[in-house]
Amino acid sequence: MKLFENLYKSIGIDLGTANFLIYVKGKGIVINEPTLIAINNRTNQILAVGDEANKMLDRTPAHVTLIKPLINGVISDFEMTQEIIRYFFSRLSERNLFSRYRTAAVSIPTNLTEVERKSVEDAVVSAGASKVLLVEEPIASAIGTRLPIEEPTANMIVNIGGGTTEISIISIGGAVVSKSLKTAGQKFNEDIARFIRSEYKLLIGEPTTEALKINVGSAVPIDDKLEMAVRGRDVATGLPKEVIVRNAQIRTALQKSLKAIADAIKSILEDAPPELVGDILERGIYLSGGGSLLRGLDEYLERELQVETRVVDDPLTCVVRGLGIIIEDTSRYETILSNQEKPKLVNL
Ligand code: ADP
Ligand code: MG
Repeated sequence: MKLFENLYKSIGIDLGTANFLIYVKGKGIVINEPTLIAINNRTNQILAVGDEANKMLDRTPAHVTLIKPLINGVISDFEMTQEIIRYFFSRLSERNLFSRYRTAAVSIPTNLTEVERKSVEDAVVSAGASKVLLVEEPIASAIGTRLPIEEPTANMIVNIGGGTTEISIISIGGAVVSKSLKTAGQKFNEDIARFIRSEYKLLIGEPTTEALKINVGSAVPIDDKLEMAVRGRDVATGLPKEVIVRNAQIRTALQKSLKAIADAIKSILEDAPPELVGDILERGIYLSGGGSLLRGLDEYLERELQVETRVVDDPLTCVVRGLGIIIEDTSRYETILSNQEKPKLVNL
């Protein structure tokens, strides 16, 4: 029945620590905004969500609080997570009386406890979805990248998001090995802010740190003489100050964290069954998530690990595109989805 198909629209939700994306069946990605909410802490009123809230970052008066309700992929503030989902649902254009009947495929980290999985499900249901399919992130990434995940060959996906880097080996539609570390995009920013503080005695805000990472940062030396003027507050005098920051400095600041990611992948390769390692050597490593956009990260890891490494197409959207592929053709992915009802992974 065409009519009901339209009314009961399925959606995919990537509830990331940094970014929130929604894919609507038949339409594509309709929401792609920061997972951020601004509230008035005197009245508890919601002031802004997503992009609008992001504009307030580091510019808020005392009575406004900006909340990132997920920490390292896990819901830490249930109520605010629910508010964000509810807000974005209300923005979906086909909102109507029937919006409660949506089926939502939601990506989750592989290492969630039963309670944490339930909390994701509850947040999405209470915001208005009627049915929730939980999909492990590396599986969604792999489907979004169109890797042959149903075949008995292993693929390694490294998703570098805001709060966590998840390293997974998947085969025959499931995660065989999975490890998560708290070194990812946000940690890179902390590294950069700390470096600027100790090098120049300068305090810089989050938007400036993010701009430094994206515009000047890299994992390997790059030819361009990349540099950027940044403004902040002098720690000693309290006065505004401007300094020029160069690519080599950001690289130095990020070195430890990059090494931590390389070492974690290395330890997984060392511990994994030889057949899986053989497959990965042949097929290479796939990087996804926004953190993989750091310039030269693929080259850096390839050199450290001696395994071919590439960044997937559009790494910021590959999870939600994977969810989209699943909801466009749920019957094809039935076995994968039912596989995931019980976590069956080996956590290293
Ligand atoms: P999550 O799934 O945790 O929400 P994302 O996959 O959306 O995370 O990635 C967000 C992270 O990617 C942020 O830390 C952001 O700073 C980082 N990021 C986005 N673009 C770039 C870029 N061009 N270079 C380096 N890091 C980037
Ligand atoms: Mg993510």
